[in-house]
Amino acid sequence: MKTRKLSVFLSALLLTFVSISAIPVDRLKAHVTWLADPAREGRRAGTSGAAAAAEYIAQQLKGMGCDVQFQDFGGGRKNVVGRAGNQERFVILGAHYDGQGSGMPSASDNAAGVAVLLELVRELKTKELPVSIVAVAFDDEEQGLNGSRYYTDHPLYPLDKAQAAIIFDTMGRQFMDLSSWTMFVLGSEYSKELASALQKRARPEMLIAGTDLIGPRSDFAAFALKHVPYLFFTHATHKDYHGTGDSADRVNYSKLAEDAQSIAQIVEDIARVQPPPKFLDGPIYPPDEAATLQRELDLVERERKDLPQAYRSMFADFKTRLKSDDSREVRRLATTALLALATPGMSGFMVSYYLGPYYERENRPEIAAAVYEEALNWETDPSERRDLEQKIQKLRGGK
Ligand SMILES: [Zn+2]
Repeated sequence: MKTRKLSVFLSALLLTFVSISAIPVDRLKAHVTWLADPAREGRRAGTSGAAAAAEYIAQQLKGMGCDVQFQDFGGGRKNVVGRAGNQERFVILGAHYDGQGSGMPSASDNAAGVAVLLELVRELKTKELPVSIVAVAFDDEEQGLNGSRYYTDHPLYPLDKAQAAIIFDTMGRQFMDLSSWTMFVLGSEYSKELASALQKRARPEMLIAGTDLIGPRSDFAAFALKHVPYLFFTHATHKDYHGTGDSADRVNYSKLAEDAQSIAQIVEDIARVQPPPKFLDGPIYPPDEAATLQRELDLVERERKDLPQAYRSMFADFKTRLKSDDSREVRRLATTALLALATPGMSGFMVSYYLGPYYERENRPEIAAAVYEEALNWETDPSERRDLEQKIQKLRGGK
């Protein structure tokens, strides 16, 4: 009995050690809590809260022994750039630190991405990598990806020496507030080397997809334009996205640390790839994309008992289409439906301008009408509402 108790105790202890990640939960939490503190006033670009955040990030990077520079680009905005190591080639790690402004803590978007960035630098510095690490905390992402665009137009280190750019945005919350975890990984379609590094470390909760499914919505876009091989990691949107409830206490730090640890391994592998990753002329899309989209649609259907009829119809339809039609359009629209549901602030626009017209074109008037009815729940402009009502009537065979 005693021996058995001891062995249970020992295996529990062992499990604890195995699951302890090298990226510490408490440090991630400390960064997010500081950056999302009300005193930072939501870190809107050009404000004193953003300036204080920039200073904090610079101090953290200096504390790890990085060479740190501020890159001003007008209006009080600045990127913070830290470099660790002396090798000519480097891996770029990037995350924006600006936020939505006063009253909006902007914790998951994107204090958490910055926290991952900082702790990855600390972790990777211990690995004796064959390349340097260039960490860039971008300012002014929220108003049009301005910090990353400025950086890629005025890089402090020549971009042709970049092994890859690894970008983080909107981390640490469950996609769509589902019970399970999803980490989207985009960009592997433009580099065979990055795709295989990713495949080697792929985990079931990763949704590896082509960037076109989501569009150029974060700082990776600037690197894509310059043909720097890139990966973009995000836990994506949730009910508090761009809202007052995106606070530090709602971030799941143990999951964030776990995922940061897998990302660290992926980055380490990428840092060691020889010859260096190349940016492909045309994309080669991830093989499991359709299957993972199916899985996500299933999950949402199962968990969201309150799913509006329009989404039930669309999801059922997309699941059928994904089996027989491997076009980008179907995958893009299935993703659009997911994102519309996940991001209430944008859903009216997405359903009215993408999903409704799609079902009209596909000659599925009953789904199109349900979709426009869903749009009516979000539309407040009287003339837009009239338009939608007329469409619904026409689709239902009225006048
Ligand atoms: Zn963001």
